[in-house]
Amino acid sequence: MSTLEPTMRITIDERGLLIRERLRDRLERAAQLRCEEHGKPVAAVVINGWENGWFDSRWTTCCEALEQQAAAIVKQRC
Ligand SMILES: [Zn+2]
Repeated sequence: MSTLEPTMRITIDERGLLIRERLRDRLERAAQLRCEEHGKPVAAVVINGWENGWFDSRWTTCCEALEQQAAAIVKQRC
């Protein structure tokens, strides 16, 4: 990956290590998304918690379409 690419900022609030481990592949995929309209990556994501196998995430993106793509990757149940 080019170092010139802006990278997605990731904040994980609780049970950090376990969540980070489980989400690592998904967050990497989300970080590689680019908005079709604006050509931008996801700016940031905050993972607030994990309940019954679902992650509660908040995204900072250029638009709704990109946010939905990113959320869909991370929100799959595990
Ligand atoms: Zn966009």
